Amino acid sequence: MRRGVSVPRHRGAPVRAGADHDRPIVRDPVVRVEQEQSLATINGATLMARELKKQGVDYLFGIVGFPVVPIAVAAQKEGITFIGMRNEQSASYAAQAASYLLGRPQACLVVSGPGVIHALAGLANAQQNCWPMLLIGGASAQNRDGMADFQEEHQVELCRPYCKYSARVESPKRIPFLVEQAIRTSWYGRPGAAYLDMPDDVILGDIDEDQVPTVAPVADPPRSLADPASVTAALEAIKDARNPLVIVGKGMAWSRAESEVRRFIDHTQLPFLATPMGKGVVPDDHPLSVGGARSLALQQADTILLLGARLNWILHYGLPPRFNPDVKILQVDIAADQISHNVPAHAAMVGDGKAVMQQFLQQLDSQPWSYASDAPFRTAIAEKIAENEAAVAPQVAADEGAVNYYRAFRDIKEFLSPDDIIIGEGANTMDIGRTQMANVHPRHRLDAGTYGTMGIGLGFAVAAAVANPGKRVVAVQGDSAFGFSGMECETICRYNLPITVIVLNNNGIGGGQAAMPDGRPVPPNMLLPGARYEQVMEAFGGKGWYCTEPSQIRPALDAAAAWGGPALVHITLDTKANRKPQQFAWKS
Ligand code: ADP
Ligand code: MG
Repeated sequence: MRRGVSVPRHRGAPVRAGADHDRPIVRDPVVRVEQEQSLATINGATLMARELKKQGVDYLFGIVGFPVVPIAVAAQKEGITFIGMRNEQSASYAAQAASYLLGRPQACLVVSGPGVIHALAGLANAQQNCWPMLLIGGASAQNRDGMADFQEEHQVELCRPYCKYSARVESPKRIPFLVEQAIRTSWYGRPGAAYLDMPDDVILGDIDEDQVPTVAPVADPPRSLADPASVTAALEAIKDARNPLVIVGKGMAWSRAESEVRRFIDHTQLPFLATPMGKGVVPDDHPLSVGGARSLALQQADTILLLGARLNWILHYGLPPRFNPDVKILQVDIAADQISHNVPAHAAMVGDGKAVMQQFLQQLDSQPWSYASDAPFRTAIAEKIAENEAAVAPQVAADEGAVNYYRAFRDIKEFLSPDDIIIGEGANTMDIGRTQMANVHPRHRLDAGTYGTMGIGLGFAVAAAVANPGKRVVAVQGDSAFGFSGMECETICRYNLPITVIVLNNNGIGGGQAAMPDGRPVPPNMLLPGARYEQVMEAFGGKGWYCTEPSQIRPALDAAAAWGGPALVHITLDTKANRKPQQFAWKS
């Protein structure tokens, strides 16, 4: 089928696609013959691929169909790796995870209408996580706008609330400019999502090569410094504090500030708490980590240096009862409008995390200082860590009967190597997993994030594997979480990715029942008892293991590691398995 031939003509003379974006674009067969004779033309699809590659896009995740097939084909020719996925949600999650891991925007390609709608989930998640990504959506030909064309949708408007930048490419000539704009806006400052609409006539439209505007590659984001006076004020407040605490967020992981933050912690000897994806900026096994006494540390801290983390629901808004009502917040963030959100900041350092930490280190080099080694706060933290470990020790040691979370994580923890990229998704599976699986390196943990999104798991896993060749990826998911993107097992097997999926199955959303109810309605939170999730991976040529007892877990994990290919280890849990009792009921 030749596309574009049956495009209805609007009034006025036909114009060559791309010649003038103010007028309707109609493909004229006569002009087409002339173009084919000219060697120096390029079509929109190829130009798009070339500009993406120029702007650092090495990975394009997506699903092809009308009208975006030519873009995917051109991308491969330009040396971009195209990863075809099974659902646009997963593809859009993969693009943002690759962007976060690689440190610059990567892209997602989807078809018009429903394709873009499905990918909105990824735009919203990227925006909430402050991660960059570029979504490219196909669209019907512009001269059919408003005619109820196939999959016609108001895509630019729909994407705008979930993006930093949303625009239509009106002609091939505009591609270099708009790609540069989208990439730069997504990447600079606080990162976020960008959207470009690619109508069919632009994808297929030709332009003379010598008419393509030249646009430079976007340089790495500038690293802005904070006001030195606020750095001094922050250090003074820390020195005055009785119970100082550093919180390390994923903004610091994004900013690649790990060597500076580590030096800062080692120099000052301050206790620190990593947020879920801030884990690994400083290794979890660092003696100053208060991860094992999180609630106590947050409650007792009188001064908190907040590094690239927001006082949102994950940090309990910075408010009582979880925080000291008089806590002094010393805030480092690249986004000025984040300063004093929920709690007024005592010192505000607006700048790039890595650059600002260098400012801190400079001041400390000229005036060294460290927190007292005998401070009562340290003792309280150490005691609480020991108490919390003791509270779960019986569950960790439970070798008999049905598997509980802590027992499963005992083996998973021993099986993991520090270089593995860990994905966590689910409710208890993610929360308990976060406390039990250590991160030694930054950007080695991905999870449901700021938006609390279920469904990110396998898209993130695919991205982590393709963006880090040679690394093993371990995705630990609840049974409910796995269901949101389970068909991506086919993607994992198609590309033969070194991903081990571990499903912790409690027959439901937050825990189900051992058997289907007799005669009564199926409880809303219930999922099928006896499901065999490992067979999903086997269906596509991967390998699966099924564990119902503690003793089966480690051998299954070791066999999966020895196999090295796509693997799914399915562990059934006691359906009543739970976290240790929480001090704050709403946390459970
Ligand atoms: P977490 O989930 O780890 O608590 P959040 O997503 O809540 O982290 O917060 C991350 C913060 O990091 C955001 O407020 C964002 O503006 C900030 N940020 C992003 N990039 C940088 C950077 N380069 N330097 C400093 N802060 C950054
Ligand atoms: Mg479950």
